[in-house]
Amino acid sequence: MQKSDYKNMWVYIEHDGQTAAPVGLELCCELRKLCDVTGDRLFAVILDKLPDAEVEKVKDCGIDGIIQVNGTGYEYFNTDAWANAFTVLSRKYNPSAIFVGGTINGRDFAPRFAVQLDTGCTSDAMELAYDPETGDIQFIEPAVGGKIMAVITVPVKRPQVGTIRPGTFKYAPTGRKTEIETIEEEINFDPEAIRCRRVGFIPDESDPELDIANADCVVCVGNGLKDSEHLERYRRLARLLGGKIGCTRPLYDRGILPYKLQIGQSGVMVKTKLYLSFGVSGAVNHTAGVDADVFIAVDKNPDAQIFNYCDYGIVGDMDEVCDELIARLSARKE
Ligand SMILES: Cc1cc2nc3c(=O)[nH]c(=O)nc-3n(C[C@H](O)[C@H](O)[C@H](O)COP(=O)(O)OP(=O)(O)OC[C@H]3O[C@@H](n4cnc5c(N)ncnc54)[C@H](O)[C@@H]3O)c2cc1C
Repeated sequence: MQKSDYKNMWVYIEHDGQTAAPVGLELCCELRKLCDVTGDRLFAVILDKLPDAEVEKVKDCGIDGIIQVNGTGYEYFNTDAWANAFTVLSRKYNPSAIFVGGTINGRDFAPRFAVQLDTGCTSDAMELAYDPETGDIQFIEPAVGGKIMAVITVPVKRPQVGTIRPGTFKYAPTGRKTEIETIEEEINFDPEAIRCRRVGFIPDESDPELDIANADCVVCVGNGLKDSEHLERYRRLARLLGGKIGCTRPLYDRGILPYKLQIGQSGVMVKTKLYLSFGVSGAVNHTAGVDADVFIAVDKNPDAQIFNYCDYGIVGDMDEVCDELIARLSARKE
C-alpha cells in the first residue's frame, strides 16, 4: 500500500466509564484544524460504553465520525486489549494518523499497537503541522535540552502514531458537524489472555495542592532557590494570591518538590491567569508548559532567557522580591 492509500485521522477518547478525559477533547479540537488542512476526516475512537452526555461533548469538537468499539476485554484498562483493538481497527480502516493522550494508559498502549502495526510512534509533540509535499505530519518538540525544536515525522510507514501530553492543546470546540457518522465495531479480546489483573481499585486522593494544571495563579520556583528552607515564603505568596506553587525540573531533581509540581515539557502543562516565576532561567522545556494570561518573571540575571517570555520582568534577588511582594499584599489585606 502507498502512503496516500491511508486516509483520515483518529483520536482515542480515554474515559473511566463516566467521563471523557479532557485530553481526548483537546486533541479533537486541535486535530479538527489539521484535518481541515489535509482534507482528512476526523474520527473519535471510543472503547467500551461512554455515557451519551459525554459522547455529545466529543461531537461538539468538530469530529466527522465516531468508531465505537464494544466486546470483551474492556472491563478495566489493560494494554493487551487496548493495543489489540487499535491494531485490528487500523488494519481494517487504514487511518493516516492516530493520536492518543499521553496519560499513563495512553503512553502504555500506543507504542505497543504502533509496534504491532510496524509503524512509528512519537511522543510529547508541542505543535503539529502538515507537510503537503510529503503528506507527513510534523510532530514538533523541543530537543537537545531545549536548544532546538525538533521536527519528527513518520516518513515511510502508516499510520503515524502520536501521544500528546494532557493540556498541550486548548479545548476550544469549533462546533458540531451536521452529519456525524457512527461505526460500531465488535472486537473481542479473550479476558484470559490479559496479562495483568486488576486486584483492587484505590481512587487518586492525592493532595489537591498538587493539582496545578488549572490553578488561577501559579508561583513557580526555579533552581535559583538556595535550599528547601527558603521555600516557605513562596508558599506564603501563593496563598496570598489564592494560587498554588509549582517548580522547574531541577527542583524535583534536587528532591525539594514532588514531580507532580514540575511544569514543562516532561511535567504538567499549566493554564493560568497569573504566572510568577522566581529564579527560572527560561529553558523552552519549561516555558513550553506555561499558558498564562499574565507572566511575571523574577531573576537576578538581566540576560536570562525568561525575560523574552514574560509580560513583566523584575531583575533582582528572588527572595527579596518575594518578601517585598508578601509585605505589600499583606498590607493591602489588612
Ligand atoms: C527532554 C527534556 C525535558 C525537560 N523537561 C523539563 C520540564 O518539564 N520542566 C522543566 O522545568 N525543565 C525541563 N527540562 C530541563 C530544562 O532544560 C532546564 O534545565 C530547566 O528548566 C532549568 O530550570 P531552572 O530555570 O529552574 O534552572 P536554571 O537554568 O539553573 O536557572 C536558574 C535561574 O535562577 C537564577 N537565579 C539564581 N539565583 C538567583 C537569585 N538569588 N535570585 C534570582 N534569580 C536567581 C539564575 O540567574 C538562573 O536564571 C527538560 C530538559 C530536557 C532535556
